[in-house]
Amino acid sequence: MGRKIYDAVALGEYLIDFVPDGVSAAGEPLLERNPGGAPVNVLAALAKLGNKTAFIGKVGQDPFGEYLRDVLIQQGIADEGLVLSRDAHTTMAFVHLDEQGERSFHFARQPGADELLTEAEVRPELTGGTRLFHFGSISLTSEPSRQATLYAVEAARQAGAIISYDPNWRPSLWETEELGLVWMKSGLEKAHIVKVSEEELALLTGQPDASTPDLAFGAEELILRYGLDVLLVTRGAAGTYYRTARYAGEVAASRVVPVDTTGAGDAFMGAFLHCVLGSETKAADWSEEELRRAVAFANAGGALATTRKGAIHSLGTLGEIEELLRGTR
Ligand code: ADP
Repeated sequence: MGRKIYDAVALGEYLIDFVPDGVSAAGEPLLERNPGGAPVNVLAALAKLGNKTAFIGKVGQDPFGEYLRDVLIQQGIADEGLVLSRDAHTTMAFVHLDEQGERSFHFARQPGADELLTEAEVRPELTGGTRLFHFGSISLTSEPSRQATLYAVEAARQAGAIISYDPNWRPSLWETEELGLVWMKSGLEKAHIVKVSEEELALLTGQPDASTPDLAFGAEELILRYGLDVLLVTRGAAGTYYRTARYAGEVAASRVVPVDTTGAGDAFMGAFLHCVLGSETKAADWSEEELRRAVAFANAGGALATTRKGAIHSLGTLGEIEELLRGTR
């Protein structure tokens, strides 16, 4: 294994989220432009905690694509793996809030630039030069980005990187639910560390009641079937369930007053991966105490991100996370 330039590299969708923000004088909804895409949110959390990171993905050769490159630079995320498409516009997601404040997404992606990343555009010095490689399931929805993702994950794995995977479930992006499941599961086969929501756990383990799945059963099923090192099931204000080959348990959420939960899961994941990168020992070999400390740190990172609006803009610093853990915040 050669010397690694990066602590973490992530690949995946990078897009514009348009988020409702009040109404205009004419009574029309106003939309705020935000950088979106879970993989970059995770990198931003890692970068904020002092890690050296780089992103691989594709945006349009248009003003939104330029803006998204600027965001990477502002966040201290290396942008040499960002490719510009002449064939498709930067992908856009329109967020709708229902009366209960629940979010739903409408995607302008037919195709969007993020889907057009090819295997040839994935730079070997990025997949080969990182200690940890993170990806999600949105880049698996269609070709050629699916092939590019699977190729990059395999290249990073071969080069000895820790593989981290967050299979997000966005039904509207898949042709059928069955196909979505097949490809979401293909990512599990390559991963060491996986984070899911309760709904995603239910889906991946064939449990019909998606809102209250059997956590112990589902987590054991994924750990054993896919030989994962660590599985994390995030449960919002209810905290996190963890499972490794040796341990299972829960760590309560940090207590905060949430304002906007966008990106909480990504902030959580970035904070957990920061602990993985900071440890001399493989997460699979951690003591349960070490594992619980990392989950608590991640919970604090996730919780802080709910106290401010946005995803990238709401990330906590190391000092803030530590204060929250000490109870002095
Ligand atoms: P996602 O953003 O992927 O839906 P969650 O909502 O489960 O993920 O949030 C991820 C983590 O962030 C949770 O496990 C928890 O630690 C923290 N978190 C989320 N919402 C809250 C909340 N209301 N209060 C405290 N912590 C929260």
